[in-house]
Amino acid sequence: MPATLLDGKSVAEQIRNDLSDRIKASHRKLGRPPGLAIVLVGDDPASEVYVRNKLRTAEESGMSVSLTRLPGSTPLAKVIATVEALNHDANVHGILVQSPLPKALGDAAEQQVFDTISPAKDVDGFSPVSAGFLAQNRPGFVPCTPAGVIEMLDRCGIAVEGRRAVVIGRSEIVGKPMALLLLRRNATVTICHSRTRDLPGVCREADILVAAIGRPGFVTRDFVKAGAVVIDVGINRVTDPAAAKRLFANEPRRLALFEKNGSALVGDVHPEVVDVAGQLTPVPGGVGPLTIAMLMANTVRAAELAAAAS
Ligand code: NDP
Repeated sequence: MPATLLDGKSVAEQIRNDLSDRIKASHRKLGRPPGLAIVLVGDDPASEVYVRNKLRTAEESGMSVSLTRLPGSTPLAKVIATVEALNHDANVHGILVQSPLPKALGDAAEQQVFDTISPAKDVDGFSPVSAGFLAQNRPGFVPCTPAGVIEMLDRCGIAVEGRRAVVIGRSEIVGKPMALLLLRRNATVTICHSRTRDLPGVCREADILVAAIGRPGFVTRDFVKAGAVVIDVGINRVTDPAAAKRLFANEPRRLALFEKNGSALVGDVHPEVVDVAGQLTPVPGGVGPLTIAMLMANTVRAAELAAAAS
């Protein structure tokens, strides 16, 4: 029997509906809506799409949202000064600097910019203070994508406690916080990466397998224990017809769409895994929508904390 697909769009809608009363209450208490400020440096096309979706969702949710656009040639000091000004702006409860920053800013730029965001406004959860709180199991802002995965597991009634969880990927924004959140829920957690030996064998031990790698269709059926829950965080745009043929060998509709559009979005999990897994998040429509919903949740929480402190 094919895996049950976990519908991220409907879970994200539930999350946003649940936030609606809290947004109104914060608005009443603060005399203004919860405010999200987005900083976009450069003109990366994927970032443009992500930012547009975040702006739209925040507006539709009844929050105030501002976008500061800076050209790709902006010096790092100016980006940092922009964030510092937002740190002091009382109308702004959450600050998001869209990643990745242009390469020209240097390898350390992203870290320096994230370090500048006030921990009280760090709704992306990327600051070292937020990361430290998560590692120490204390309340704080948690990166939106792994937080969304936990919401998905909870809202779909998938138990975590006592189960074997394997996370492929150890990035600061997905893999590492994902592993810590699963540990917080009392899973027995293994983190895998590019130097892991016998990756398929380790992954086959998982009751819950999370793939956050950035390689289209990397996780094939031999990585997956029959009936496992498979969470596909990857978002990859495939443009190579040979790769599309391999990925969509058993999905003529998706292959036809690829041929029409010249590209397709695929996850890190090969579509064939649907025949082995018990539950599986699709790409698109799985984890992706939850990331934005959790950004809204973190911003509302930042506004509530600001209201409580005022
Ligand atoms: P990174 O590139 O920062 O990290 C990738 C991780 O995968 C690294 O830890 C790397 O290991 C590991 N990896 C790479 N190749 C292999 C391999 N052959 N075997 C085992 N491990 C490997 O990516 P991110 O964490 O930022 O993103 C991962 C994916 O999730 C991407 O597709 C991204 O687009 C997507 N994403 C989706 C979001 C959403 O909203 N759904 C949000 C954020 C990301 P090592 O550390 O050893 O190099």
